[in-house]
Amino acid sequence: MASSVHEALQQILAGIRPLDVERVALRDAFGRVLAEDVRSPIEHPPWDNSSMDGYAVRGADVSAASAASPIRLDVLETVRAGQRPSRVVEKGTAIRVMTGAPVPEGADTVIRVEDTDAGEQVVEIRDVRDVGRNVRPRGEDLRKGAIAVAAGTAIEAAQLGVLASVGAAKVAVHRRPRVAVMATGDELVDIDGFDSVLAGERIVSSNTYTLCAAAMAAGADVVDLGIVKDDPAAYRERIAKAEGCDLLVTSGGVSVGAYDFTKDVLRELGADLRLWRVRMRPGAPLGFGMLGQMAWLGLPGNPVSAMVTFELFGRPLIRRQLGHARVFRPAIDVRIGEDITLAAPLTHFFRGIVEWEPDGAVASLTGPQGSGLLTSMARANALIVVPPERMSVRRGETLRALLLGENGYSSATFNI
Ligand code: AMP
Ligand code: MG
Repeated sequence: MASSVHEALQQILAGIRPLDVERVALRDAFGRVLAEDVRSPIEHPPWDNSSMDGYAVRGADVSAASAASPIRLDVLETVRAGQRPSRVVEKGTAIRVMTGAPVPEGADTVIRVEDTDAGEQVVEIRDVRDVGRNVRPRGEDLRKGAIAVAAGTAIEAAQLGVLASVGAAKVAVHRRPRVAVMATGDELVDIDGFDSVLAGERIVSSNTYTLCAAAMAAGADVVDLGIVKDDPAAYRERIAKAEGCDLLVTSGGVSVGAYDFTKDVLRELGADLRLWRVRMRPGAPLGFGMLGQMAWLGLPGNPVSAMVTFELFGRPLIRRQLGHARVFRPAIDVRIGEDITLAAPLTHFFRGIVEWEPDGAVASLTGPQGSGLLTSMARANALIVVPPERMSVRRGETLRALLLGENGYSSATFNI
């Protein structure tokens, strides 16, 4: 019995848990998901500090200052960032401070240097606009004991910086999944066998490249198992090399052809097969099961089908293993720029190009949509979704689109 796309996602993700937790050096935590709250052991910033180069003063002393009648204060000392003041600001005095330097006791104001004569012994204050300002209070960013980064947060640049600020030299994160990728097919060679492609005998296993890269982009460590001949013994021998992996992704050999052995071999090896076909195009044949602790995702061989089914099912699976709460690509409404006629009551995923027009997102198809046309995928920045009940779509109608990657949305112009 074939599943809908939503059912298939449920059947797959129901069996997948975040992987175990390991403690890693902070730099190695980039791209992982934090497994426990990290609290700040300090007030951050650790002292009241100046947000300007200027003079720490008592606001009350200078509140009558102006360019016409500046107020003169004795400068007690200069404090740079990284130094500590040795004096207290008292009536009629100032301490020269640099940005980030601790604001001395007694001061409630830093007058920026531009509003003074920059004096080193005595300073003239010429403006009152900074009275009561330019002091960043201790603990303003993080109070001692507060959660700096919460469990479940994806660690990117900003989170790494916060964790570094609070001294989290090692952090608890979910293990990165090890994902084995295996291509099947007697017709395939790797790129070093391109002579046989030129001779018209073979095609390059592009799935090896697309799927390894897509798994890496999803956050996995990839083990490339290469290409296996369509022979059950060869499949078995190669699958054994995936031992210790968290996911085995195969491509090809899941259809109903005479040489489609993947499912039989997985079953013989003792896999608990949970999914067989999905009512979608491209990519109807799709296997999923558990081989002990290792998940198996059997993708169709057609290059577009393999990529689209990996996007829909493989990427969320890997992100769940990494511990992400947000495992799916973002979907948005798009206005479709052309008529589409559908041939079967399946959920269709068309390769499309989404662009932002002043009045919203507009999508066009990349051209012919055959599941062997990998260039259509290489031009796409989105998968445009047509639900199974629709037999035709008119230009101007609104559909959902899954946004792929980031490059397709980066802009050549600075559009703000
Ligand atoms: P299969 O699912 O094995 O029946 O393959 C379906 C189609 O995809 C056939 O035309 C295969 O030649 C092609 N194909 C299968 N595996 C790959 C691969 N790794 N790279 C490129 N094309 C493939
Ligand atoms: Mg095949």
